Amino acid sequence: MPESAAPQAPWASEPPRTLGARSANDQVRQQNLSTVLRLVHSEGALSRAAIGEAVGLNRSTVAALVAELLELGLVRETSSAPTGRVGRPSVRVEADDSVVALSISVEPDGVQLGLVGLGGAVHSRVRHDLASAPSPRRFASIAASLVDGMRADIERHYRLVGAGLAVPGLVDPSGLVLVAPSLGWKREGIAARLTNALGVPTSVGNLAGVGAFAEARFGMGRGIDNMLYLSGSRHGIGGGLIFDGNLLRGTNGFAGELGHTVVNPGGARCECGRRGCLAAEVTPNRVLDMLGRKKLDEDELDIELGVMRDARITAELERQVDLLSTALTNFVNAFAPQTVVLAGYLGVLLSTSRERLSDAVTVQPMGSEGRQIRLERSRMRSQLMQIGPAELAFAPLLADPASLRL
Ligand SMILES: [Zn+2]
Repeated sequence: MPESAAPQAPWASEPPRTLGARSANDQVRQQNLSTVLRLVHSEGALSRAAIGEAVGLNRSTVAALVAELLELGLVRETSSAPTGRVGRPSVRVEADDSVVALSISVEPDGVQLGLVGLGGAVHSRVRHDLASAPSPRRFASIAASLVDGMRADIERHYRLVGAGLAVPGLVDPSGLVLVAPSLGWKREGIAARLTNALGVPTSVGNLAGVGAFAEARFGMGRGIDNMLYLSGSRHGIGGGLIFDGNLLRGTNGFAGELGHTVVNPGGARCECGRRGCLAAEVTPNRVLDMLGRKKLDEDELDIELGVMRDARITAELERQVDLLSTALTNFVNAFAPQTVVLAGYLGVLLSTSRERLSDAVTVQPMGSEGRQIRLERSRMRSQLMQIGPAELAFAPLLADPASLRL
């Protein structure tokens, strides 16, 4: 019988083991390493068996992948007390938090720097208050001096992989800040400027997008594929859409600019030039004016609103909650998220008016029963702005853990 007529084995169509085949195997291995590292990064310590179950790989494959991550210094083993009366302590695998990233955020009133370990541990943080919005140059020099203050500690105890920066503005995928109105920045190549000033690769992202990502990985969005995140502050409203586990970027990274959804035609003038945008109508600035306060953080505002008995302020809050409800109803109809997370000032409004806002996210398509979408207040609070930017810096490492060896 001629060889070509032999029955084909199922593997016969595999390409010969050339360079192409090897790199395909390498790709699978890289993907598996990445999946395991991401898992322990966001979920915390897990046994090898639990890792295998979560990622759908067999025992020996998981053992080999964990061995490689141990060798790379990206994970470590911890022992926990035995759960039963008999048995050995169980060994679990966790992200090694001595692998760190610098987490930086800039707003008109200050610069924050944090040192964040793999796994989301915030090792330290500092803040530099500002009287006015910094120029890109001034900001870079402030950031560099804050990092210098941490440098001895970093060199002694940690492995620094890079820096992540969150900016309240539109950032294109290359890290160019197209416009950041509250900072007065336009077409600013801040990633390159910071990479120079700090001496480590720096990635840049939009403040709200970065917040959404941190919330998705470590907060209320854990294990959820589709989440709408909306955050409010004195400087505006930003949004982030996590779709099938990824941050939806849209053309030039413009997706998620939900703060400029018009909810009150003819209403207050917005910085974008239109009238009645969500960001111009639903803002703590009016409430702070009525309270006679200049600046309150989220926790302080919770307390103040909990005890105040001013009918004017109550009416203003109700007005804002109604407009936010309108926007939320439109967003859940447009994006069908599993969960909506409200952060910052919008989280404060959720705590004052949970019932009204819950109604707004109950979708009632014609002819079927209402579908309740989970509505949650951000769990991350002040930690969010530490962990979020660091995720930008960890992204290349999480995608290709073996790159650390190069
Ligand atoms: Zn606007």
